[in-house]
Amino acid sequence: MTIDFTAIIILLLIAAIIFGWLLANWGRGRGRDSRFKFYSSEYFKGLNFLLNEQPDKALEVFIRVAEVDSDTVETHFALGNLFRRRGEVDRAIRIHQNLIARPNLTRIHRAQALFELAEDYMRAGLLDRAETILLELLDIPNYTEPALRSLVSLYEQQKDWEQAITMRRRLQSHTNVSEEETIAQYYCELAQIALAGKDRALARRLLKRSQSHDSNCVRSNLVLAIMAEEDHDWVRSQKHYKCVLEHEIRYATEVLPSLARVTRHIDGQQTLESMLTGLLHGSPKASGYLAIAAILDPNLDDAVSQACIADYLRTEPSLRGLYEMFAAFTLHDSTNQIPDLQPLQTAVRNLLKNGPRYRCEECGFRSKTLYWQCPSCKTWNRTMPFHEISFTATGLSS
Ligand SMILES: [Zn+2]
Repeated sequence: MTIDFTAIIILLLIAAIIFGWLLANWGRGRGRDSRFKFYSSEYFKGLNFLLNEQPDKALEVFIRVAEVDSDTVETHFALGNLFRRRGEVDRAIRIHQNLIARPNLTRIHRAQALFELAEDYMRAGLLDRAETILLELLDIPNYTEPALRSLVSLYEQQKDWEQAITMRRRLQSHTNVSEEETIAQYYCELAQIALAGKDRALARRLLKRSQSHDSNCVRSNLVLAIMAEEDHDWVRSQKHYKCVLEHEIRYATEVLPSLARVTRHIDGQQTLESMLTGLLHGSPKASGYLAIAAILDPNLDDAVSQACIADYLRTEPSLRGLYEMFAAFTLHDSTNQIPDLQPLQTAVRNLLKNGPRYRCEECGFRSKTLYWQCPSCKTWNRTMPFHEISFTATGLSS
């Protein structure tokens, strides 16, 4: 016989409540014996349901035996939350609905039970019911902020970006913590919808709105750059691509190939090289990011990119062994004293392509797709291009 975990927990809680009651009431005289008999009988009923593998009936016993008062209400909440965490949402809902139905519940506990029930409904995908409760909780002190956060999450799930913007704004004024970066992302979502509907003018307006909330927004600059490139507006496209790199050099792999392309349309290689030199002066880490972008895209063959590649291959710790091997082989085989790095560059390109391309800075989630909202921790705008030399899929690992 398999014993259900849920039933064991329920019976342990019933036993805890009985012993708690006994300790509190021992020696108080009248009524003690009859109450003790009631508890004993209910406990054995619950045990019988356990033995017959009927955890829901055991739960009914728990709800009946555990009166809701100041001593037991936390036990109800603990059990309800336990069920929700285990994915047994129906049982969590029954516990919390039972609490709300009790007339003797304090206002504080009733608000808590309503919030927990809303969380249950969210987990069960009953978003309309959750929304109704959460909107009611907005006016209850101590629950305004949790309700706003849950509503934000709810509207994000529904992709109702207008409502998500409204709730983020309310959250911002309630907590005095900036939500501007995320609001900018919502406008980008709306712009993507407009683009899908072929309304480029609306998309452009929404992207500008996004930038009014976050002037450094990488996403809106990227989309505006792509749109301008599609319109053959090379100068505007170059401006937006450059803006991305000036604020976030880590996006070099995403942006450099396109920036090089539009720049060649305007005035050729020389401007590209002076732009790259400017980026190198702007950030001490730029060289490595430019090198990886150029290794991954052979079209980036200008002198500045090639110099970055040579530096990277020479100095990257994980490549030192490979570099020395290639250098020794090339110098031995040739009269040329400068090692030919092309074979090493090709090998490193393959190694980089095997690894993940993006990583969430909040939770470390890695992926080959760029997510503006992390699928794991749900944080916005924290996924960064990430390149790791991966020997695993090439058979080079030990
Ligand atoms: Zn994350």
